[in-house]
Amino acid sequence: MSVQPSLPTTEVEYGDPLPVLGADVTVPLVTGGEVPYAALDYAASSPVLRSVWNDVASYVPYYGSVHRGAGYLSQLSTDLFEQSRQTVREFLGCRGEDEVVFTRSTTDSLNMMAAILPAGTRVYVFETEHHAALLPWRDTEFTLLRAPSTRHEAVEIVAEALAGHDPEQPGLVCVTGASNVTGELWPVAEISEVAHAAGARVVLDAAQLVPHRPVDIQELGVDYIAFSGHKMYAPFGAGVLAGRADWLREAEPYLAGGGASRRVVRGDDGFSVEWQQGSARHEAGSPNVVGAYALASACRALQSEGFDSLMAREEALLRRTLAGLAAIPQVKVLSLLNDSAPRVGVISFVVEGWNSSHLASVLSAEHGIGVRDGMFCAHPLVRNLLGNAPDQPDECGAPEPLAPGERPVNAVRASFGAGTPVEHLDRLVASVAQLARDGARWTYRTEAGRCVPVR
Ligand code: PLP
Repeated sequence: MSVQPSLPTTEVEYGDPLPVLGADVTVPLVTGGEVPYAALDYAASSPVLRSVWNDVASYVPYYGSVHRGAGYLSQLSTDLFEQSRQTVREFLGCRGEDEVVFTRSTTDSLNMMAAILPAGTRVYVFETEHHAALLPWRDTEFTLLRAPSTRHEAVEIVAEALAGHDPEQPGLVCVTGASNVTGELWPVAEISEVAHAAGARVVLDAAQLVPHRPVDIQELGVDYIAFSGHKMYAPFGAGVLAGRADWLREAEPYLAGGGASRRVVRGDDGFSVEWQQGSARHEAGSPNVVGAYALASACRALQSEGFDSLMAREEALLRRTLAGLAAIPQVKVLSLLNDSAPRVGVISFVVEGWNSSHLASVLSAEHGIGVRDGMFCAHPLVRNLLGNAPDQPDECGAPEPLAPGERPVNAVRASFGAGTPVEHLDRLVASVAQLARDGARWTYRTEAGRCVPVR
């Protein structure tokens, strides 16, 4: 695949400091032949780091029950589980009193956060958040914050909303570290400062931040952090909620069951339960030791490689790709906090005249590129970015080109990180340029809401 002649040359070494599995996978093209698969959907789930896979493979023969068994392997597994918690604690720079709770994912962590809020808490959340950060507060008093158009305005909006906050009332600001739609970084430390000044706490949705940037709970000044293993190269079903112990300690357990209960006594009218303290209180059931171990392994790998080199490489790939896309007149890259906001390796865009579902299918079928199309579980944000009316339908799998002037109702997202070869992004740019110019070579149809090649 040829490289766009307009792409800038760069001094950056695009070497592969943290290799991932799957780099040698090839996929068939509808037009014939095979190409290496270009995995550009890291923001949904990243590939597995080779070192994570190796760590998991070394551990699995020694796998045993956690916190329950008397046997040697149970004790070993329990030690590894608790060491994994310690690794995460260090990775996040936790305060001494903070708890680290293993969950299933960011969604699970943020739902846990909603479940542990003291009675009467008011939550402040931007309407632009991922649904995992937007929806868990439905049963709580909450204030929806309007979409900002700059990083500075984001801080002002929080300040305005909190100006009326009663410091006696528990308050929580929920904010994302990096948008899963635009990749833009939010001014988390500044928002935390404003929130704390008003007596509110902050929970950071770090799902898209943790794989790309060092995240230090104290430097950012946040009270809680939520993230997922599968977006940070460790897809074994674990996530994390870390932060202040008091609300976690005072809340009812997130799940009722074994592990969370210290003592259960049958009484005349049911049971009396003495619940555990600490992280165990919210980790009822058999813990996902492999998931926690894999997540901790990813933390170690990112830390030992060092974010400086990862960020430098990602920044170079980002600039190269954005420059390539900017050279295609039909492409519009989506941005909320204006073009100067720093980003991680997440780029959403639309192509004039193209239905995004169609474009994503053609990129896959004719070019072997795996991107995502749709509204990325952030419907209010994507509607805002595309300038669509709120009642416009979300499903748009039809392959027909858009009528002149017709606005797409969803977008295409390319996302990348450790292990992404420059060729994958160059192929994306070259393929979009070719499709914008010449159209698809194959015929497509809609099947169950998806655009698929006719075979
Ligand atoms: N928050 C953000 C910003 C995300 O991008 C995602 C997933 O895409 C989530 C939360 C939810 O993460 P998970 O699906 O791992 O629960």
